[in-house]
Amino acid sequence: MGINIDRFLEILKKEVENYQVPVVDLIAVQTKDPFKVLVATILSARTKDEVTAKASERLFAKAATVAELGGLDEKTLQKLIYPVGFYKNKAKYLAKLPEKLEVDFASKVPDTMEDLLSLPGVGRKTANLVLAQAFAIPAICVDTHVHRIMNIWGYVETKTPEQTETALRETLPEEYWIPVNSLLVAFGQRTCRPVAPHCDRCVLADLCPRIGVTPRKLKQAGAEGEVLRLVSWNVNGLRAVFKKGFMESLQEMAPDVLALQEIKAMEEQLPEALQKPDGYHAYFNSAKRKGYSGVAIYSRQKAEQVITGIGDPRFDDEGRVLTLEFPSYYLINCYFPNSKSDLSRLGFKHKFNVLLQKFAEDLARKKSVVVCGDFNVAHKEIDLANPAQNRKNAGFTPEECAWMDDFTESGWIDTFRKKNKEPEQYSWWSYRSRARERNIGWRIDYFCVDKGSDVKIKDADIYQHIHGSDHCPVVLDFLK
Ligand code: SF4
Repeated sequence: MGINIDRFLEILKKEVENYQVPVVDLIAVQTKDPFKVLVATILSARTKDEVTAKASERLFAKAATVAELGGLDEKTLQKLIYPVGFYKNKAKYLAKLPEKLEVDFASKVPDTMEDLLSLPGVGRKTANLVLAQAFAIPAICVDTHVHRIMNIWGYVETKTPEQTETALRETLPEEYWIPVNSLLVAFGQRTCRPVAPHCDRCVLADLCPRIGVTPRKLKQAGAEGEVLRLVSWNVNGLRAVFKKGFMESLQEMAPDVLALQEIKAMEEQLPEALQKPDGYHAYFNSAKRKGYSGVAIYSRQKAEQVITGIGDPRFDDEGRVLTLEFPSYYLINCYFPNSKSDLSRLGFKHKFNVLLQKFAEDLARKKSVVVCGDFNVAHKEIDLANPAQNRKNAGFTPEECAWMDDFTESGWIDTFRKKNKEPEQYSWWSYRSRARERNIGWRIDYFCVDKGSDVKIKDADIYQHIHGSDHCPVVLDFLK
């Protein structure tokens, strides 16, 4: 425990004065109502603050008291609180809450840990937050930010939030028990972010031991010219990912170009914020079939030319390729066909691959070409968790890997592998068997450039911390 916790928390107190106040604290201050604090805390689990704030507002407009909440059925509750995380479970808990409060606690929110834990949907974190915020009873609420940041500082060395709570009870001066959660939640949301924390502009930069931290990388604008941050992401449904914090991810990644695959929507079906995000020009190539495939690109710079498809209706009707021309390079955004589990589309995919390669090579005669997207193939054994078991499976068949061999041997550079030779670097995980948590994944999303553009590759990365899809974004820092 090498740090001076008083100093750290005093510095942070000043720092977060201008930050947004976490939503539950705000509700506590504004309403001073334990019922509302309890309900907002239940809603806030695994949910962004903005979403919690809006859902709480909708719900409290209909149910500001225990009795009013008792008048709403589960379906209505679901509608009111959607899209908070796990809204179905939370609606179930909220539906049961009034009866429990009425029978056991005379319709009042109890003020002991034991009683709070007896309520539906209330765990230690929620109970601690309610005790601290609604009743000002010294309690340490250990949100994931508190657990994470206390470990980064080396103030605790723990594996779970529960262990962190126990450790803090022993070491943290009591005066910080209540405020520590708000401080670190605000600080964790804005600066010491879960992935790629902003150490470059952190008030604690000179003091923090940064245990286990990989700070965000800033784009260099060197003497040699401007470096562009290009990001590619198979979002598995743009409308779906929008509900899971897409705009925050866009803000966090701050790409110059964002190439999206599997948008599964026509432009006009998208909310306004996605049709043209602030600061970006937007380009779309949707599939003819509704809700299927489709690609899009957001670019800070306006494209000189937009090329839709690769000149073959078999592929172009599926909205698989969109190319933008900029003064110094072309960007080809591709969603390669999946060969399907019975491999019935292996031939179709191979034809697409060959045509796409020819299309890219024709453009590369004129200027730099960047080909990005979901290639739907893991190239080598290092690119997936279980190569032996998957040799005959879609995405790792000898035929698909052979094309990727041809592609790279003809000069196209897999930029990530050029920069990173480490195993277990994946960009896609099955939704089954907690594959992402266990990192049983595949690297099937790529940024490749023509061989003449080798010197323009500045860095390559995979943003595994960005969630919302079964793929995560892949990144190329590319000299303009
Ligand atoms: S220096 Fe970096 S790791 Fe340390 S508190 Fe600041 S943002 Fe977090």
